[in-house]
Amino acid sequence: IYLTFDDGPGPYTGKLLNILDEYDVKATFFVINKSSNLDYLIKQEHNEGHTVALHSYTHNYKTIYSSSQAYFDDLNKISNKVKSIIGIESKIIRFPGGASNTVSRNYSKGIMTYLTNEVVARGYHYFDWNVGSGDAGGSNTKEEVYRSVVNGLNPNRANVVLMHDFENNYYTLNALEDIIRYGKENGYQFLNI
Ligand code: ZN
Repeated sequence: IYLTFDDGPGPYTGKLLNILDEYDVKATFFVINKSSNLDYLIKQEHNEGHTVALHSYTHNYKTIYSSSQAYFDDLNKISNKVKSIIGIESKIIRFPGGASNTVSRNYSKGIMTYLTNEVVARGYHYFDWNVGSGDAGGSNTKEEVYRSVVNGLNPNRANVVLMHDFENNYYTLNALEDIIRYGKENGYQFLNI
């Protein structure tokens, strides 16, 4: 199971890191640009053995998917920010909305086909997910987050779980321990990308 957290760091990322540490679980954080007051959390993610990966600087679909130039300008900004905090360049990315999102075509038709090839040509590895938590809409309690994740797991494949550590998303924080316990009790191993 690859636990992935998008759109952070946020106010509760520190608590989330404590839970991961308690269970000795490594995860992957696809970060965006937030207040510099939260930079220390990106540093902490890295120092505690998690993977700091790139999501977007602005996370503004209209801007980043208006052209490939705009996309890479945004990617370079978050890449530089992460590098300035953890000292290494991350080549692991997740497209806002995922690699096959349909939002982008409103701003530039066919851009995902171009970008998914171009990021690979530039040395990046992009990752989507195959297990949803519903925590960006759909799941409104910690039980719903838990059920969505557990029901989505399949023992015969690598499971990449999409979650978010943005503001006020306490459903995921409060479901995390139960998800980890379920995974460990059912023979899964937790890995970072
Ligand atoms: Zn996102």
